[in-house]
Amino acid sequence: MHKIPVYKPLLEEGETKAALAALANGWLGMGSFVGQFENAVSELLGAKDKHVVALSTGHAALHLALLLAGIGPGDEVITPSFNNIADIQAIIATGASPVFCDVNDADLCIDLDSAATVVSRQTKALIAMDYGSNICDHDAIARFADQHGLRIIHDAAHSFGSWYKGKPIGSFSDIVMFSFDPVKTITTIDGGALIVKTEDERRELREMRLIGMQQSSDVMYGNNRAWSYDVERLGFRYHMANLHAAIGLSQLDKMDVIASTRKETFKFYHQRLSGIEGLDLPPAVGDEIVPFMFYVRVKHGRRTEFREFLEKEGVETGIHWRPAHQFTLFRNERRAPLPITDRAGEEIVSLPFHSKMNREWQEKVVGTVRSFFRQGV
Ligand SMILES: *Cc1c(COP(=O)(O)O)cnc(C)c1O
Repeated sequence: MHKIPVYKPLLEEGETKAALAALANGWLGMGSFVGQFENAVSELLGAKDKHVVALSTGHAALHLALLLAGIGPGDEVITPSFNNIADIQAIIATGASPVFCDVNDADLCIDLDSAATVVSRQTKALIAMDYGSNICDHDAIARFADQHGLRIIHDAAHSFGSWYKGKPIGSFSDIVMFSFDPVKTITTIDGGALIVKTEDERRELREMRLIGMQQSSDVMYGNNRAWSYDVERLGFRYHMANLHAAIGLSQLDKMDVIASTRKETFKFYHQRLSGIEGLDLPPAVGDEIVPFMFYVRVKHGRRTEFREFLEKEGVETGIHWRPAHQFTLFRNERRAPLPITDRAGEEIVSLPFHSKMNREWQEKVVGTVRSFFRQGV
């Protein structure tokens, strides 16, 4: 019996064709498809007055976002411990220190009251992450950052294609980061992007992603390069590759299908799993959200038993995430009390959720979860 995977990218004929065409054209580094991908993302997000910079991974995007914000040794960056390791490692890579705050019990997004308790003179920025299908209170985050003089890095890896108060995610925050790794809503195999507000910031990012070379991206988008350039700043090899961008373009073409499958699966799970004692669901969402995943919270210390039962029945599950402050490398970082994070870290389970879910798989997941809870009583 085939297991139902937690994640599965929707790769079809379009992606194969796009990849073959990119290989055949022979320009494999940063080239025309990268420029087209940036334009397509900008179009989709209604970010015409902003600047999209395509990068090699979400982690690379976070690292550059922090450097762009001027973060370095001696600085502190506040972020929930309930976050991806990539965010914490990116902070450490700049020489700054992460400072952990708690999340709200209802949506597992940043708890600003908790964040307020750890603001110090060293605090320079805050990373806020939309979690699963939940969008942070970005208006309140902007006010908080204003009040404390902080840059905001909006980790929108989970909210690509979603909207907040009538505005597309990506169109309004200080610095926005996306990931297009294999499990994300849209994949470029590996990839990431930043969205910034000024031409100057875009120019800095364009240099930093090409090991500091002041090589015109516009020339490279013509599948060409210049041989005369200067290097003025620290840089990394963080650009997106043409082959990956070509695959991403083909994914963006299918955004409607990807969004509707995800919305439909989310609604189905939500309806069929609500009202079970011992199982908490994420908040219901409207049509403005393209859900990234479906997490549940298994109460009464039964998570391991729950996951083993599902595994035995052929339903894979995941954990997103183990809180960062529990890892060896991060356990001594400064932090607020984290009671919600610790509890969520013991309860959360991600159910199979991706753009290839069909009715049979949805029924199987729901049926298996329901039968676990009947067994228990
Ligand atoms: C996936 C992810 C990242 C890291 O992106 P990569 O492309 O895998 O490096 C960062 N933050 C969040 C919330 C993510 O889900």
